Amino acid sequence: MSKVSIGQKEDNGKILLGIKVEDDSASLQDLLDAWQPLCDDTLIHKEYAAAYHDACKACQVNCCNSAYVIPDLIAFKKIAARLDLDYQDFIRQYFQKEKLAAGLLRLSPDPCIFLQERICSIYALRSLICRFYICTPLQGQTEELIYKISWAGAAATQVFAEQQGLLPQTGDASRSSFDLLFLQLLEQYRHTQMVESFLQADDYSDIPLGLFVS
Ligand code: SF4
Ligand code: SF4
Repeated sequence: MSKVSIGQKEDNGKILLGIKVEDDSASLQDLLDAWQPLCDDTLIHKEYAAAYHDACKACQVNCCNSAYVIPDLIAFKKIAARLDLDYQDFIRQYFQKEKLAAGLLRLSPDPCIFLQERICSIYALRSLICRFYICTPLQGQTEELIYKISWAGAAATQVFAEQQGLLPQTGDASRSSFDLLFLQLLEQYRHTQMVESFLQADDYSDIPLGLFVS
């Protein structure tokens, strides 16, 4: 039996998707394994997909056009390795310069630098926020869980980059309200065990899901 399962609940005529952790030993990888079929599912309602139904991989109405992605630390390391770049060059070539100046590691956007011919060119390695985002209604606890995991992963990348001296000194860069929100959240997460687990892990299977479940 899977350690994480996906279920549905009806609320005011809307179908809400949610996850259930079936086993206390579940890892983040178990959640990702349970979640991926939702991205591939053409039967569930997806608000922004063509005719409300599509596999995310094939979607042409792409949320990647405007995504604000700070990669989680596992994805950050894997993508750099795939590109055969050291971290400094990876950041220099693939991250938005204005946000770097503001102290944030955002992938170059509008559209995302990895979107090629409307398809993600690093799909199997994409960051947690990319894996978890799905334009279908979710149950509240599930939404809370996936954002908590994504934030912890992103905060770990920030901490790692600071520790390695990869971020430029921040000057008087202008920061949008979105940037400020991100920086506040990253500060909130910085000293948590959730972030520490990303810093210690080699892969998602090393990260206990229980750390994120309220
Ligand atoms: S989550 Fe993004 S890629 Fe998936 S169907 Fe919605 S808009 Fe398309
Ligand atoms: S990394 Fe891939 S999935 Fe994520 S925003 Fe960029 S193109 Fe989209």
